[in-house]
Amino acid sequence: MSTRRRILILGGGPSGLSTALSLTDPVANPNWRDEYDVTVLQLGWRAGGKGATGRRGEVLQRDGEWQLVGDARVEEHGIHLFGNMYINSLRTLNTCLGELQPSAGEPVATMDSDLRPSNYIQLADYFHDRWHLTPQHLPHNDLLPWGDAEYPSLSVLFRELLRLAGELLAEALGYAGDFAGAGAVHAHLAELRALHAHHAAHPHDPHPVHHEGALRALAHAVEHAAQLLHHTESWSEHYALLRSVYCQIDMYATVGKGVLADDILTNGIDSIDGEDFMAWLARHGMSETALNSSPVQMPAEMCFQFPSGDTAQPPTFSASGYLWFVLRQILACGQATYWFHRGTGDTVVAPFYRVAVQRGVEFRFFHKVSEVGLSADGTTIDRVVVDVQATTVDGAPYQPLVRLADGTWAWPDHPIYEQLEQGAALRDGAIDLESWWSPWQPVGQVTLTVGEDFDEVVSALPLPCLPHVAPAVVEAAPWKAATTALGGLATLAAQIWVNRPTAELGWPALRGTDRVVGGAAVPPLGFSDMTDVLESEMWGTVYPAHDCPKSLVYLCGPLQHVGPWPPFSATDTPALQDERAKATAIQWLRTATSVMPGSGTQPLTPQSFDFAALWCPPGSDAQGEQRFDAQYWRANIDPNERYVPSPPGCVGLRPKAWESGFTNLALASDWIFTGLNIGSFEAAVISGMLASHALTGAPALHDIAGYLFGRPV
Ligand SMILES: Cc1cc2nc3c(=O)[nH]c(=O)nc-3n(C[C@H](O)[C@H](O)[C@H](O)COP(=O)(O)OP(=O)(O)OC[C@H]3O[C@@H](n4cnc5c(N)ncnc54)[C@H](O)[C@@H]3O)c2cc1C
Repeated sequence: MSTRRRILILGGGPSGLSTALSLTDPVANPNWRDEYDVTVLQLGWRAGGKGATGRRGEVLQRDGEWQLVGDARVEEHGIHLFGNMYINSLRTLNTCLGELQPSAGEPVATMDSDLRPSNYIQLADYFHDRWHLTPQHLPHNDLLPWGDAEYPSLSVLFRELLRLAGELLAEALGYAGDFAGAGAVHAHLAELRALHAHHAAHPHDPHPVHHEGALRALAHAVEHAAQLLHHTESWSEHYALLRSVYCQIDMYATVGKGVLADDILTNGIDSIDGEDFMAWLARHGMSETALNSSPVQMPAEMCFQFPSGDTAQPPTFSASGYLWFVLRQILACGQATYWFHRGTGDTVVAPFYRVAVQRGVEFRFFHKVSEVGLSADGTTIDRVVVDVQATTVDGAPYQPLVRLADGTWAWPDHPIYEQLEQGAALRDGAIDLESWWSPWQPVGQVTLTVGEDFDEVVSALPLPCLPHVAPAVVEAAPWKAATTALGGLATLAAQIWVNRPTAELGWPALRGTDRVVGGAAVPPLGFSDMTDVLESEMWGTVYPAHDCPKSLVYLCGPLQHVGPWPPFSATDTPALQDERAKATAIQWLRTATSVMPGSGTQPLTPQSFDFAALWCPPGSDAQGEQRFDAQYWRANIDPNERYVPSPPGCVGLRPKAWESGFTNLALASDWIFTGLNIGSFEAAVISGMLASHALTGAPALHDIAGYLFGRPV
């Protein structure tokens, strides 16, 4: 009998994959094969969770492999990107790409080939009775987050604030042009630069006098920016740009002031967790204008922090989560954002999954955990009951990836029916095995028992799943309060393929891989130009070049929902919610010229996106809004699809990976305490590393980038 521990990971999203990769890390856990087995239970046909991607097309078995034929368009859960603070995710991806053994004919993927850095964001702000688009150049530098570079620490915060304020004030002077008071602003700019040089020369000088001096200089910078704004005519083309710059300088000054006044350097970021971010910013003197502006609201909006998904109300966000986000952005490490050339699933999730398999992790797809049971004495997980959704024809493990025409591997948008005994019934019934409202009945049930089938369990299940699959565990858990206080928010996503190039949407041509991205300031959806993803789709294998889409835009935002969800027996729920998602996206497009100024061409509806520009298959006679039917949209409503927000007070409710309260259960997923404490791919990856730490002691906590950032040592 094997003496190795058997570790079961529940859920193959980013946190489950990260747990598997950390447990089998050849550097951190070199002897893992002698010590334990790792098995991942995953419902449906793919890994990746909220970051899962599907490719559209027909799957055929050719040359001994599963190939996808068709346009292979990428279909995602929403807009996904990494920020420069995603060091653990980026390092894990870099490791996986390095370790991956490509199959014959597969192009070698690298960080450069598959990630598209962007340092630009175009935000929309509403003032003077209309929307204004303003660019924001996000902090970035030449450091390589997945290299050995030392990450900038909080000790250099004021140096960076002075640098950024100086750059912004210079930009503001450029917009304002010459005027009588310009001399004083120039003089102050020189002062900011001199102070920055002093801080740069004394990087570890913590003397409060220097911080106070920096604060005064930052406060003056705000005053000067306000003066320039006041001086500029509100109708001038530069007014919106100046306003954005003013708001950013005010944000940096307020952050500096708040950090000093609340002694964050000593007390840690979490000391302000109980406060809402807007209250915190207001308490430290931010102006009303800045407080309600896109540059300041962007982190909250990007992270869906709207209670019940209601974007008509101000967002609510723990001040510590907000500050963490902003500080990590200011203390940049590399490029501001990284986008996925082949969609999230194929760029990130597939290499994570493939390397885990390569190392010997077992994945059981179509295994939906239906119960996590507690021992009679309430101390131990003694059983995991699994609904088997489908079985493979030959009993062999399911092979989830398909080969695309360019030789790369991808996740299809449906199960590979030919591998499944129930394939025909699933296809003919258009069954969605990921939906918790699916009418499909399990074809079997397996009870895994402690001591016989497993020894330890990692719950990598999102928080909103746990009351459904582990009610007894939740009831007895010390973290029970988190399930109601954090909850989970539904979101919606849409992707539109457009038969006109990006420039014709009225968007500026940007440098390199920079892209137009709009914060959710235009309720309820944020948007992003994803045209480069088209290159990884296979339109050219199906249509002549002139019939292929010319640009691709993603829309994403909260899906408002109040009250309990219908029971899972109400099987029409997904279709009804998908209709809401579709209607919301169409309604948003009807006024889209506010953010896509070139997209409206119809004289009777000048504010509306011209629906004739939506790509449809050649020969389609769909007119107007009917053309939306050929696009992609979804409502993310399943318990595991709901986004876990970070309301004030959330940090104290989040258990550590090793604080499940049960002897053989470690916790992962983005809702546990990760140091970052914002629902994100990076938090999920950190949570997996922490779960591995809980089970094996590796990796060490100080090797998890950012875990200790902003915390008192
Ligand atoms: C629309 C949207 C956009 C987002 N954009 C970004 C972004 O740009 N950047 C970013 O960093 N983060 C983003 N996020 C957040 C990010 O996707 C999540 O934080 C991350 O996916 C969480 O990973 P996880 O493993 O904790 O959970 P999940 O991703 O939800 O994975 C959980 C896994 O468990 C499986 N599972 C659930 N129940 C069971 C069961 N009973 N049995 C077996 N398996 C089960 C699921 O199928 C899934 O594979 C976004 C989220 C949403 C909703």
